[in-house]
Amino acid sequence: MKPPRVVTFTVACSVAVLAWTSACDGPAAARSAESGADPEITAFIGAIRAVDNHSHPNSVAPSDSDADALPLDGIPFELPVRLRPGNPAWVAAYQALYKYAYDDTTALHLKELRGTMQSIAKEQGDRFPTWVLDQVGTEVLLANRIAMGPGLAPPRFRWVSYADALMLPLSTKAEAATSPDRQKLFPLEDKLLQRYRSDLKVGKRPGTLDAYLRMVVTPTLEAQQKGGCVAVKFEAAYLRPLDFDEVPVAIASKIYATYAGGGEPSHADYKALQDFLFRYIAREAGRLGMAVHVHSFDGFGNFFSVAGADPLHLESAFNDPTLAKTNFVIVHGGGVYSPHAGALLSKPNVYLDLSLMTMAYPPAKLAEVLRDWLIQYPEKVLFGSDAAAFGPDMGWELAAWIATKNGRAALALALTDMIRKGEVSHARAEEIATMVMRTNAGKLYKLELK
Ligand SMILES: [Zn+2]
Repeated sequence: MKPPRVVTFTVACSVAVLAWTSACDGPAAARSAESGADPEITAFIGAIRAVDNHSHPNSVAPSDSDADALPLDGIPFELPVRLRPGNPAWVAAYQALYKYAYDDTTALHLKELRGTMQSIAKEQGDRFPTWVLDQVGTEVLLANRIAMGPGLAPPRFRWVSYADALMLPLSTKAEAATSPDRQKLFPLEDKLLQRYRSDLKVGKRPGTLDAYLRMVVTPTLEAQQKGGCVAVKFEAAYLRPLDFDEVPVAIASKIYATYAGGGEPSHADYKALQDFLFRYIAREAGRLGMAVHVHSFDGFGNFFSVAGADPLHLESAFNDPTLAKTNFVIVHGGGVYSPHAGALLSKPNVYLDLSLMTMAYPPAKLAEVLRDWLIQYPEKVLFGSDAAAFGPDMGWELAAWIATKNGRAALALALTDMIRKGEVSHARAEEIATMVMRTNAGKLYKLELK
């Protein structure tokens, strides 16, 4: 019953503020008056050319379907307020990117907006995605896609592929039956594995785990690396909890061989095989110089397991000495588990990004999250947007603008607070801003930044 309470509080406070009574003018209001960001830091951050750690930009192909391995189109879920159509953030983005001259969204004005969108897309052609990066101040965008496409070329766009399908070589029917969401998602993973196999001309499922690793997993990762991939991404939290245990190869091989010819593995057997494959894929990614991204956020999907997405589940994989050469990025910063994600930054090969938080959280909330991370491990925190097409009139370019603006505002608030508390000097705050927005990712992915 939270929303009605929020409304009541807001109305009550508006009245109180109008009357200038003390009802809402307590310590919280005083704090917010003090907590405006330092204009110098704000300007400094506004001028940093960003590296965006996570997004799903569209190519300029007419019906681009490679932007996401698990598009959530067919799955009902509750959108956080700031992502909903009609949120003022979208109108601000229309104004900034398309010179939209209105504060409303009447049908007539939206028609005019769509005309402007079409003419800019036409005018820019293949350059449209690069035009977007120039508008939002991003130098390099990591594009998490099944495959890249026209308009998304390096060095401005760098590829992050999807690895979950490689972890699911056996029949997924029983796993899919565990929730209505998974019923829709597992077939998409099956389809992607088929695509990976057909790219390698492996028509039939190999009979042994060893052959599967040699003929499908390693060659797919090697091809992705050759294709310019800087990281592979796991969306596993949509499919299962993130507790990837250590499983001996003999056990994994036996499970694989038992079901390679058909049949439904038990949940326990399939989990063990997936656990083994997760660590194998992560090790191979490390060998090939690719980072491993893992989705960790409280959503989405009405049957999504929030508890299963806690990044602390990943600790035993992070602690695996055979994975020491693999760099992991907790994508979306863990969401509600942001302190857990922050605690994991104490491990040398663990990073996190603030993607999606930059869409879903207002700057003050994101600043609190950021502050906790920045006072301890500022060299492990990466800016990110999760820019994606959220629906009609909510294209990836608008999401990129919203997230980038919001992320910069939050970073300015967090660093201002740290300066005022005497935790960092102004000069150090500027260094940290540059690290978060750009150079931490530059180092992690060995990007040649301008
Ligand atoms: Zn994403």
